[in-house]
Amino acid sequence: MTSVETLTVHGLGRVAEPYRDIVPPIHPASTFERAADGSYPGGRLYARDASPAYDDAEEVLRQLEGGADALLFASGMAAASAVLHALEPGARLLAPRDMYWGLRKWMQDRAEHGHLTLAFYDNADLVDLERQLQSTPTQIVWIETPANPTWDVTDIAAAAALARRYGATTVVDSTVATPVLSQPLALGADIAMHSATKYLNGHSDVVAGALVTREDTPFWQRVRAMRALAGAVLGPFEAWLLLRGMRTLHLRVRTASASALHIARTLETHPSIAQVLYPGLPSHPGHAVAASQMHGGFGGMLSIRVKGGGSAARAVAARVKVFKRATSLGSVESLIEHRASVEGPGTRCPDDLLRLSVGIEPVADVLEDLIQALDG
Ligand SMILES: *Cc1c(COP(=O)(O)O)cnc(C)c1O
Repeated sequence: MTSVETLTVHGLGRVAEPYRDIVPPIHPASTFERAADGSYPGGRLYARDASPAYDDAEEVLRQLEGGADALLFASGMAAASAVLHALEPGARLLAPRDMYWGLRKWMQDRAEHGHLTLAFYDNADLVDLERQLQSTPTQIVWIETPANPTWDVTDIAAAAALARRYGATTVVDSTVATPVLSQPLALGADIAMHSATKYLNGHSDVVAGALVTREDTPFWQRVRAMRALAGAVLGPFEAWLLLRGMRTLHLRVRTASASALHIARTLETHPSIAQVLYPGLPSHPGHAVAASQMHGGFGGMLSIRVKGGGSAARAVAARVKVFKRATSLGSVESLIEHRASVEGPGTRCPDDLLRLSVGIEPVADVLEDLIQALDG
């Protein structure tokens, strides 16, 4: 049987007629012809409902996550929003205390305007999660693991089992772990979410999002309707670029993970560093759980806390030459950012923290760059 990795490398491998192209064509059509009898022989009506431009990328994603169905969106935030908008008014959502800042703020905004009820649990604390589930009926348990920007780890299997016991749906933002390293649906989660802008596309040139469901449920049909009716659809060219980007997903993620582990281990003893946060290090509180639910690596994301506080951290970021100073993550080029100043007022991120997205450059180049920046 062909492995999912080969299917991904082949971009599904459909050969297009009549020229037998081995690369899929782009489907830019917004609308599709109706036959004289009123039927739709092509099976499509209008691109906002179901564009053939998404078919191959969605099928690759569905297989990568081992799900029943997949949906592409105009961004990761649009994918997450489709879940939030599919909830009944006032539904309760339990989110991790540490998570992607933009989505946390958006959830808080939705809660302040009465669209949902929001409570938080400590990412790694299942006792806290269960206490929260016991106290009030909950519709969604949101998980992000490893979570921005400390890479806290949540035990997906245990959290999803708890959520199910209390009748809640589990959604895992698996952007950082990627389907290469972690399979949330196989661990019992109901929906996997991705900012496809990051590792899935991998080249800092597409903004996209995705959801993959373990089972086709009435809630999933509402999510599907949210895309068609709220209309946060991806452009055909972006879908095509995403499919192309995913063809190298396994190689990119494995390389970035191996480099990140090497960098984390090396920097842990550097005199200018107060702490290295990386789930691949035994010193990280989430290491054991990460080792059990991630396979083949711990991802390409790590954070370093620089001795001397915020100004020292910003000075290190100012000195890099190989790293690009930019937000975002999961691309072929290494990125560095002073996370607290990106998140702004109200951030939970320590001021001395630099977030690193390790790319696929030779690790020696990246490490040497960091060390010269740290040594000043
Ligand atoms: C970037 C990101 C998002 C948001 O995705 P966009 O594609 O920027 O809308 C959500 N979660 C995580 C973990 C991210 O890194």
